[in-house]
Amino acid sequence: MRKNNFKVSVIVPIYNEEECILTLAERVVKVLENYHEYEILFIDDGSKDSTLEILRKLNSDNRKINFLSFSRNFGHQNALRAGTRRADGDCIISIDGDLQHPPELIPDLINKWIEGYDIVYTIRKDGKKIPVLKKVTSRLFYKLMNAISDINLQHGEADFRLLDKNAAAELNNLNENALFFRGMVKWLGFNQTGIEYIPDDRKWGKTKYSRKKMFDLAISGITSFSIKPLRVSIIIGISIAFLSLLYGLYALYIKFFTDNSIEGWASVFFMVTFIGGIQLIILGIIGEYIGNIFLESKKRPHYIIKEDSSDLLK
Ligand code: UDP
Ligand code: MG
Repeated sequence: MRKNNFKVSVIVPIYNEEECILTLAERVVKVLENYHEYEILFIDDGSKDSTLEILRKLNSDNRKINFLSFSRNFGHQNALRAGTRRADGDCIISIDGDLQHPPELIPDLINKWIEGYDIVYTIRKDGKKIPVLKKVTSRLFYKLMNAISDINLQHGEADFRLLDKNAAAELNNLNENALFFRGMVKWLGFNQTGIEYIPDDRKWGKTKYSRKKMFDLAISGITSFSIKPLRVSIIIGISIAFLSLLYGLYALYIKFFTDNSIEGWASVFFMVTFIGGIQLIILGIIGEYIGNIFLESKKRPHYIIKEDSSDLLK
């Protein structure tokens, strides 16, 4: 059991969500007012609309609402990282800014934490409204991710979760470039539990995760947790070499022991392009890892903060 007088931090990454912010802030404040102490920290991920002005206004009306503003779009995962670093509550809850994660679920998360869990994650129950393509690709991704890495993610696990401050401190020590928060949180260990929720529809605006961003997230999720793709490449290489050896033996047999001449063009053409394709894929996989080494070796900061509401107090 945890102590009674704790502080709750809620962090909200936000990118061009001007329509959602006020409603979200209102609903979150309503929930958090029941607790001893709270803070809400918005991380403006380089929004181009009036998001930042709205955040300034919210901050001047209620000093418990704070914000950081990035100098450009550094991505959702980096916004989560910045928020986790800055928040100083006894538990830190991350929630999306588009109202798809119902703030009314926050007390359930906190109750689990009071029970003694260090990390409480949420599992999205697919509503009917989620596009089929997104459903299928996300299922496929979780399957693949679990198959090739040592962590075990549940399908539908979202970036809506509670972290105890000790778990958050450990997370903050991970400084790698390729970020996949869901995986890193699983990797941390501690006492974890999940609760299910049904996501609301996006009330305003459209998803800020383009297909490209989704794809990037999936690739970095897979390659930052395992080098198995490299091993699979070796196995594919060996199998194909073996098959082509068999085929070569067969060709020799036909040449020397039968009168049939080989009608070779189609099969040669197929083999050359097939193997060429496989080689390119494998080179791509190797390249992805080398690229990661390259990015890590530069040690650039993960984000740049342009404006920080806590500076106003100084
Ligand atoms: N987001 C962000 N930076 C980005 C993309 C998204 O901070 O580059 C925020 C966005 O404002 C939202 C959350 O991350 O609060 C989740 O994004 P979204 O709802 O677009 O993703 P989806 O729910 O469609 O997966
Ligand atoms: Mg969303």
